[in-house]
Amino acid sequence: MSALLELDEVRKIYTTGSVEVAALAGVDLQVHEGEYVAVIGPSGSGKSTLMNIVGCLDVPTDGTYRLAGEDVSTLDEARLADVRNRLIGFVFQQFNLLPSLSAWRNVELPLVYAGVSRDERRARAVAALERVGLGDRAEHRPSELSGGQQQRVAVARALVTDPAMVLADEPTGNLDSRSTADVLALFDELSAMGRTIVLITHEHEVAERAHRRIVVRDGRVVEGNGGPGNSADSSRSLA
Ligand code: ADP
Ligand code: MG
Repeated sequence: MSALLELDEVRKIYTTGSVEVAALAGVDLQVHEGEYVAVIGPSGSGKSTLMNIVGCLDVPTDGTYRLAGEDVSTLDEARLADVRNRLIGFVFQQFNLLPSLSAWRNVELPLVYAGVSRDERRARAVAALERVGLGDRAEHRPSELSGGQQQRVAVARALVTDPAMVLADEPTGNLDSRSTADVLALFDELSAMGRTIVLITHEHEVAERAHRRIVVRDGRVVEGNGGPGNSADSSRSLA
């Protein structure tokens, strides 16, 4: 089985004035189709930078990133956006729902960008809401939903295009423990149905739910992607 995503010696340098920060200092990472992987690491270790690259929101300064067999490391913004819209569903810490739109209108947005017809958009948006247990909330606006429900709407929006991968950056960071449990249960379900999930978090209890944990520190993967000293880890993840 070839990897769905594969990073090879990925570096990302931010330059601010005369100061250079190596946010990623040579990351090697492989995730296969159907894997549920958590990326964990302390604040400032490079997790969001990694998410931006894995999610095709940004490109590396150096190194290669292959997604579904295609080298996306040097694409221009328009092509990158095309790959992003086709292959990736995003879930963010702040939900990022539009407050003036009902739940289903939020969920259909990626389909508007994809040029899907109006009738099909509504049917698919409602089906996605049903999948996250919110079929009866389609007409509610975000302000009429709890935090956990809003995040489930965001998960429905991430799923509505049937993406190759769901990429979530601190999806439970703004949730109380009960809503966190709901959202994590939903991720468990998606994973059981074979969806590839990459979840970024600094919370160990959240990372525990994934099949494999990848530890990032100082812009490097220090654990969880095989290699010397991690044989026990990688054999467990493949079992
Ligand atoms: P994390 O998500 O793990 O907290 P980040 O990827 O946000 O880490 O940041 C990694 C490092 O890169 C930090 O030192 C941060 O200050 C720096 N950094 C992140 N984004 C930028 C940026 N746009 N410009 C300059 N430095 C940045
Ligand atoms: Mg971050």
